[in-house]
Amino acid sequence: MNDASRPISKTSAAGLLSGTISVLLMGCGPDERAAGPVPSATLQVGGERVFVPMDEEPTYHLLDGYDPRWSVQLREGIEMGRKYWGGFGPAHVWVVGREGEGSIDRVAREAFIDEYCGWRIAGLDRTMEECRVHATERFIDVAERGEPEAYLSWVDEFDQPEAELVFINVHRWYLEDDPVPDPVLRGIHEYTHVFQMGFGSMPTWMMEGAAVFSESWIPWVEGRCGFDVVSRRMGRLLDRIERMEDSDLTIADMEDIDSASQAARDHHRELAYDAGAWAVVFLVHGSPSGSMAAFRDEFFPMVTTLGWERALVEYLGIESIAAFYEGFEDFMASPRRTRLIVLGEIGR
Ligand SMILES: [Zn+2]
Repeated sequence: MNDASRPISKTSAAGLLSGTISVLLMGCGPDERAAGPVPSATLQVGGERVFVPMDEEPTYHLLDGYDPRWSVQLREGIEMGRKYWGGFGPAHVWVVGREGEGSIDRVAREAFIDEYCGWRIAGLDRTMEECRVHATERFIDVAERGEPEAYLSWVDEFDQPEAELVFINVHRWYLEDDPVPDPVLRGIHEYTHVFQMGFGSMPTWMMEGAAVFSESWIPWVEGRCGFDVVSRRMGRLLDRIERMEDSDLTIADMEDIDSASQAARDHHRELAYDAGAWAVVFLVHGSPSGSMAAFRDEFFPMVTTLGWERALVEYLGIESIAAFYEGFEDFMASPRRTRLIVLGEIGR
């Protein structure tokens, strides 16, 4: 399916036209709906904390005329994420789409762009004109082409950077028989990145892996599905990893998508998203408590104080990152049944 999935990346903090900002483009879902190109200019999240703890809900901005049910589903996911991870921000959620044919109503389009640019250039040395061109290309043109997109970017020109959670044509990802509607999962995924960016730099596989795992884990914690759904979704990731031709590649090749080899970039979905999600399972299971709650409450703060490498080594009581990667390879070589049992053993 045509789709836009983008791994963690960030364009250089250039102007509005080049990607606004530091764009942390992140694709989503672990399933077939999320194939897509690797953006050309990418770099890791900076070493520092980008977002801050806050109780306020994100601010939602919807294109008038796009069915509100989609933003309701996205918000449901974002709220599930906030409840699980804790509130971080500030964040703005931009929801745009067009179902059916034709172009977007001019009045609705202008109102949306005005709303976006009013916020985007406030207090900055930028013109409305410049912003309108950029916003039209970034939101309206994509919506009218019918392409679905979901990603997180942020405006680091503000004293306190603000998150932009962008969702375009998410109705394209909706399937009647999904146990939890896909737009809900997109909300969980992108919000998980907001949370992660409240702590500091992490490798691509960890950022995407935790976000993908959250799409399965959080709805289950919230009672929205049975554990069979978690196992099935995680099993689908294994199917894809197994289909990967370049079997020598591992998550160690996907620490930073920017400096990754072309072969690794060609398999960024399997490495960052699919294997990444299982690496998080392996990580959590191997921690002293074996629980996701401790991963959230203890590991992430350690990333801030120690950096991700020392945090991982100390959290697991292992010798080195290399030892983690080796252990993970052994784990992935174990029978699928074993891996699914390990998944089931993770504590809340
Ligand atoms: Zn992502």
